[in-house]
Amino acid sequence: MKFKDYPYTRPDLQQIEKEMKSLKERLENAKSYEEFRQAFFDSDELNARIMTQSEIANVRHTIDTRDEFYKEEADYLDEISPVISNLQAELAKVVLNSPYVDELKKEVPHTWFAIYENFLKSMSPEIIEDMQKENKLASEYQKLVASAQIEFDGKTYTLASLEEKMNDKDCTVRERAHKAYWGWFADHEKELGDIYDQLVKVRHGMAQKLGYENFIPVGYLRMNRMDYDQNDVEVYRKNVLKDVVPAAMALYRRQAKRLNTEGDRLPVWNEKVEFESGNPNPIHSLDEMVDLAQNMYHDLSPQTGEFFDHMKDEGLLDLKATPGKAAGGYCTGFITYKRPFIFANCNGTQGDVEVLTHEAGHAFQCWSSRDIRPIDVFWPTSESAEIDSMSMEFFTWPWMEDFFGDRADQYRFVHLSGAVKFIPYGVLVDHFQHEVYAHPEWNNDQRMACWRELEKQYLPQKDYTGIDFLERGGWWMRQLHIFLDPFYYIDYTLAQVVALQFWNRMMKKDPKAFEDYKAICNAGGTKSFRELVELANLKVPFEDGCLSETMDTVSNWLENQDVTRFE
Ligand code: ZN
Repeated sequence: MKFKDYPYTRPDLQQIEKEMKSLKERLENAKSYEEFRQAFFDSDELNARIMTQSEIANVRHTIDTRDEFYKEEADYLDEISPVISNLQAELAKVVLNSPYVDELKKEVPHTWFAIYENFLKSMSPEIIEDMQKENKLASEYQKLVASAQIEFDGKTYTLASLEEKMNDKDCTVRERAHKAYWGWFADHEKELGDIYDQLVKVRHGMAQKLGYENFIPVGYLRMNRMDYDQNDVEVYRKNVLKDVVPAAMALYRRQAKRLNTEGDRLPVWNEKVEFESGNPNPIHSLDEMVDLAQNMYHDLSPQTGEFFDHMKDEGLLDLKATPGKAAGGYCTGFITYKRPFIFANCNGTQGDVEVLTHEAGHAFQCWSSRDIRPIDVFWPTSESAEIDSMSMEFFTWPWMEDFFGDRADQYRFVHLSGAVKFIPYGVLVDHFQHEVYAHPEWNNDQRMACWRELEKQYLPQKDYTGIDFLERGGWWMRQLHIFLDPFYYIDYTLAQVVALQFWNRMMKKDPKAFEDYKAICNAGGTKSFRELVELANLKVPFEDGCLSETMDTVSNWLENQDVTRFE
């Protein structure tokens, strides 16, 4: 069946409530493990149905936000989703306290139990009002940044649309665009700082009501961290300072030399420009690239070939930027149909290839995990999910000539150096949040000063000459996750370190590397982060020596690339 033919019926809240109530009774009154087990998997089936219908509505809504029908459905589903989560949590509580739980543990992955234990530890009816306030503040932030209107060269821009000018070929345009962009943040420093201040206070209050000293442990529970803690993260941060920051600095120095615009300086408006001649762009149309990707996935392995055939033939790729389409890109899945889906806004840049590799990596995991039940352990937790996507970006390297022609080597260089440069930034975002939530009494000036101080350690290349707001420590105000998803950001860096180890094995032509990759895609969310990394025969980023070994090979490769021919 094609995606466009999937039927949609609105999940009826009253009906769901009735079904859940009866499932709860069946779980509570089960006379045998068999009865209990049946009720457990029936409730999973119900969850799968609800989730599939919600995803169909959400995907169709984002494909055309002007469609009134699906807009209303998406709003309705947003509204009922907290009620449904609450009902699901109630069922889970019954399961966790049941005399049959030990028997269930023999056949249901341990991650399922960990997810619900974490949920119950970070939830209480006492904090529902605070959670609503938190959501309200988060949307206030989103509204404020979305409402920005910036005058630039006689035109009005949003923060997102101004980014094109911030990456303009002309250095003076870039400089002025950066000043305009950060000027908006400087003008709204007080409002943004107030929203964050309230977010920190409401989160701290929730943590105290739950019996914690501060919000940090609650943040970890919400992220479903099962087998690493604050101490592991602290060790990892130190290793990033020791092993990754110098490697990134070497790259910035080379970049400044290549650009040679201001001697050895690399002003902030030049940071994203790797080559004065521009970054590599794909040489084919989108339709041609999808065909090339199909060939590529067939060459890579029978499983990826079969997977991509389904994606293409069943209309599970919606990649073109079309009128009314929501911004951004994502991968999701329709659980009852056992199919992934990729949504994107391709626009002829390098990002289009990343959709066909990164998002396809997520989709391949979804495809590989399609028989996993219960559905709560279908997707891995976020740091593990990003391993699947980021590693696929590397496993597809040998085919990059198809997409970039004679600029493929340039693409590989930009891609790998981007991975190295990202890690210190990601860890900085995480470190900052640890400090903020450990000091809930801080005011905005103290938070800004803390950011700048940490930034000087993780990103010593930052040259903010001429932009006072950044010099005072304001960069974090543009980072959505800091407001919306506390402690999320480090996940990208952990996954990147694991993906780089796959890169290393791929470069050494290790024939088992892709087999190990497929194994973790098959495992979905049935294993925790450390377990998945071990299953892949790789090292956990917290382990001693992991970062230094990984970075040595990566830096070596980068140093040996002569990219002057692309200048
Ligand atoms: Zn991703």
